[in-house]
Amino acid sequence: MEAVMIRYGEIFLKSETVKRRFISIMTENIRLALEAKGLSHRIETPRGRILIFGDEPRRIAAAVAGTFGVVSASVCTMTSSDIDTIAAVAVEHAGRHLRPGMSFAVRARRSGVEGFNSQELAAAVGSAILDRVPEATVDLSTPDYEVFVEAREFGGLVYDERLKGPGGLPYGTQGEVMALLSEGIDSPVASWLMMRRGCRVVHVHMHGGRFGGADGEETVLRHHARLSAWVPGHPLDLLVVDMEPFFEVIIALKEPRYRCILCKRFMLRVAGILAEERGAYALVNGDNLGQVASQTLANMAVIAPAASVPVLRPLIGFDKEEIVERARAIGTFEARAGSTGCTVAPRYPSTAAPAATIVDIEEKIGAKDLAARAAGTVRVYRAKNGEIA
Ligand code: ATP
Ligand code: MG
Repeated sequence: MEAVMIRYGEIFLKSETVKRRFISIMTENIRLALEAKGLSHRIETPRGRILIFGDEPRRIAAAVAGTFGVVSASVCTMTSSDIDTIAAVAVEHAGRHLRPGMSFAVRARRSGVEGFNSQELAAAVGSAILDRVPEATVDLSTPDYEVFVEAREFGGLVYDERLKGPGGLPYGTQGEVMALLSEGIDSPVASWLMMRRGCRVVHVHMHGGRFGGADGEETVLRHHARLSAWVPGHPLDLLVVDMEPFFEVIIALKEPRYRCILCKRFMLRVAGILAEERGAYALVNGDNLGQVASQTLANMAVIAPAASVPVLRPLIGFDKEEIVERARAIGTFEARAGSTGCTVAPRYPSTAAPAATIVDIEEKIGAKDLAARAAGTVRVYRAKNGEIA
């Protein structure tokens, strides 16, 4: 019989109560992911393991390997926990992959089973494999082929493939954050990293109206839908805020070089209001130190206080290449033809705006009222399983 075994890394280090809670949230997320793919299954959680049984173990493993909290998933053959049976099954596995001249290693574990220890298990399996493929050699550091065997109270497991999962913590274990989503490359990655760390996410996008790019909102909706596919079965909301009235006001100001600072502060102010309304603990954005004028350390220090809740910046120390690589893996990378076309950004934005000047301007234009009004008229797009509902 085959089963899919899930490894979950870091959750292992938690106290028993926390571990139990996290595993129960993760198995529920796994159930939702399999349900979204129409894969019938049964989940069991014997000590320290999550095992999934179903008719299509390969498809189950592939679906589960996209679940946050999962370090890896393997299709295993389940046997009894006696050493000879495990060795015989391991030989069958090795027979499919191990060719003369190749090196191999046996990785063995044992718990709750008496009569042999894990080294003895590894040795027995190793010699059975050598009987079958005598021209193979053992290499424990960089083998061409690895077979994993486990003897546990509930039975024996043999497998030789691992599908890598995203790792992180189960979605929904860490409370809600509000992630600012734009049409760019960075912010979807920032949102994904917080999801991977267990935060429920709600997205917010600031729409520039006639001052923004032509197809900005469609791109944001694509990012939003794509990110929802990472949390199957969970609805993901995108709140769209109308920034046009604010832009009307700031283009009339004499000093164009502070516009980006004023704009970013406005975004945080509005998002902060919306976050508090929903009970989200923090904002998340795709800021990346030094990337553009509004992301110099000096300007970030002036921008951040506009938010009424903490601002998390998971990409702050990344290099652009790393962000692009992640965006590709997540599925939100889109090569852009030209600029996104914000028509409000000045040619020479200030890289170190004086905080007092900014606060003065905001008082003059009534930024707080404008923000409250903007927060009062949001459109909501709900996405689920990769699609806008
Ligand atoms: P990205 O950073 O997502 O690639 P960008 O480069 O257009 O997009 P920046 O000017 O770098 O955006 O802004 C920094 C962060 O501010 C973004 O990562 C995003 O979190 C947020 N942000 C920018 N524009 C918007 C917008 N129109 N709506 C919501 N959030 C935005
Ligand atoms: Mg950016």
